[in-house]
Amino acid sequence: MTDYDPADRPEPLPGQPVIRAVPHPDELNPRGITITCDRCGARRGWLLLNVRAHVFVRCRCAHEWNEPDLTRADCDQHYTEPDREWDDFNTAMTSLGYDGLLAGATWN
Ligand SMILES: [Zn+2]
Repeated sequence: MTDYDPADRPEPLPGQPVIRAVPHPDELNPRGITITCDRCGARRGWLLLNVRAHVFVRCRCAHEWNEPDLTRADCDQHYTEPDREWDDFNTAMTSLGYDGLLAGATWN
């Protein structure tokens, strides 16, 4: 489901990298330009995935890309403490509603 260059993703350490998933229901405009999804045109309702220093944006349609304009600090802003944990990425995405089933959905 992902179409970013896998080379962008950091090498996993032995074991597994910790991915922090931080929901971001509002628009994102790190450089004054509102981020939109290339695939479905969504402008809000993101999931920020923080893998070490890298930040990936994931859309409700399951499109996901590396967003170099976002930093770890952007994730920290909205991050309080872990409240859930999953063993694998796909389960997490399904559980959070980012497996594509809710493409186009927004909540006010
Ligand atoms: Zn999308």
